[in-house]
Amino acid sequence: MKANETEAVSRRSFLGAAAAALSAGAMFAPQAFAQSASEIRKGEANHSADNPGPINRRLAEENPNSSLSPFTDRGDVSPFWYSFDLSHRRVQDGGWTRQVTQKELPSSQDIAGVNMRLTAGSYRELHWHTANEWAFMLYGNARVTVLNPDGTIFIGDVSKGDLWYFPAGYPHSIQGLGPDGCEFLLVFDQGTFSEYQTFLISDWLVHTPGEVLAKNLRLSEAALAKLPDDELYIFPGTLPGSVEDDRRAVGGKAVESKIDYTFRMEAMKPTAEDAGGNVKVVDSAVFPESKGIAAALVTVKPGGMRELHWHPNASEWQYYIQGSGRMTVFASSGKARTTDFNANDVGFIPAVAGHYIENTGSEDLVFLETFKSAYYADFSLNQWIRRLPPLIAKEHLHLDQAELKSVPEQSLKIIAK
Ligand code: MN
Ligand code: MN
Repeated sequence: MKANETEAVSRRSFLGAAAAALSAGAMFAPQAFAQSASEIRKGEANHSADNPGPINRRLAEENPNSSLSPFTDRGDVSPFWYSFDLSHRRVQDGGWTRQVTQKELPSSQDIAGVNMRLTAGSYRELHWHTANEWAFMLYGNARVTVLNPDGTIFIGDVSKGDLWYFPAGYPHSIQGLGPDGCEFLLVFDQGTFSEYQTFLISDWLVHTPGEVLAKNLRLSEAALAKLPDDELYIFPGTLPGSVEDDRRAVGGKAVESKIDYTFRMEAMKPTAEDAGGNVKVVDSAVFPESKGIAAALVTVKPGGMRELHWHPNASEWQYYIQGSGRMTVFASSGKARTTDFNANDVGFIPAVAGHYIENTGSEDLVFLETFKSAYYADFSLNQWIRRLPPLIAKEHLHLDQAELKSVPEQSLKIIAK
């Protein structure tokens, strides 16, 4: 821990010195801001930042920027970090599930997430629910089915990097395929959504009188006795044949959905790309069915960063897939906070709040940005500065023409090292 503390302090001292230079040269630096930087530097020099009492060492080491933040961080910003690895994992024969909802991350009122694993052949039971469902395949292969109100059915296979979208209320199923089933992330456009409160086919049958079932399903008493007497939720099953066999078995083209509810997100051509990485945006413009949730799959190369930006139309719910990063959220009124993120963590940014994400590791940082919206939209700080008449930009930022021209003109989304 001693080495880490020394390293953290020297990094902060460097930032403090840079801040002092900035404050001295720039007339716009508020007095309180400059004082706060010098107070922090003093605190570090006289060991005020030492932490001799009890410490959850692993958690502190994983979140160095939260326990000793950049001096520009200030004020009371609601928590915007959680991890699926802190959630209860409901393990059943056939797989498991866990969730991060508004209960775990109270700021997230628009979106809740679920992480689920199904072994080969196992099912997530036939069900439907109140929220729209957007999913991203993290591992393996799965078969999904979803019924349309017109009686046609979609049956399709998905692999790592693919997504699916099921409208609220539409009944669907998910089954793990070979060789080792699947794991996926589910995103729901409802902060209070709970994966444990979906409408299960078994649950409804259990709570319907036998004579009603006999009449409705036109089944004999002997057949009714075979129905499940408790909810199934996740359970083992038999590996199916080909997707073509399944489509044929239900009636072929005559009952086939005209809508494809899946999309190859990872395989798509990047929406924006440069030396620092790339962004793949999937919203209703490229995948018309995705009317409730828009998303971006972001890859930031080592040393790069997702540029300073914000979103005008929705809050952002993030899922970190790979690597390690650091995000700062600017919440207006002098408030800003920085937190570290690793694989399987969840991040949240209130609508219109400014933010950026740096890759702090040695491998690619990969994460998903999701929004409760039909479309993806962001504002690039750089682009805004460059689009302004030069006099307006100069009189706000005190930069000369040459300096203003060094600001990237296009929205790059990712800034290279
Ligand atoms: Mn579902
Ligand atoms: Mn963003």
